Amino acid sequence: MAARILIAEDHPASRELLVYLLEMAGHEVRWVDDGIAAVQAARDYSPDLIVCDVQMPGMDGYGVLRALRDDVRLAAIPVLAVTAYSMPGDRERVIAAGFNAYFAKPIDPETFVADLAAHLPPHLRGMNAATP
Ligand code: MN
Repeated sequence: MAARILIAEDHPASRELLVYLLEMAGHEVRWVDDGIAAVQAARDYSPDLIVCDVQMPGMDGYGVLRALRDDVRLAAIPVLAVTAYSMPGDRERVIAAGFNAYFAKPIDPETFVADLAAHLPPHLRGMNAATP
């Protein structure tokens, strides 16, 4: 069975790659390109998992994460950060903020879908996900 996945990413090429990989894996994907829309879409769409860029206009990924975690209906949704930051300590900062995982851009198309699926319940991991 497929998962409902929300992608929040303002960079078109990066977003298109995420959408492509997740749809190829059989997931149902919606996307937005700013943080405020991400929070609204999370309320409207009830995704099983959110992939969230850290640097976005309007509200950044940290703001999105705070808004989700502050909403009892949305607080349990896994949120995976993707970020172009590659400075030492970035991963620690992202995880300390409460993201469930961190992916540095560019993501690795060979491993991303399976790495993401590890944050889904087993029955929602899609067609191509590796089984543990
Ligand atoms: Mn961005």
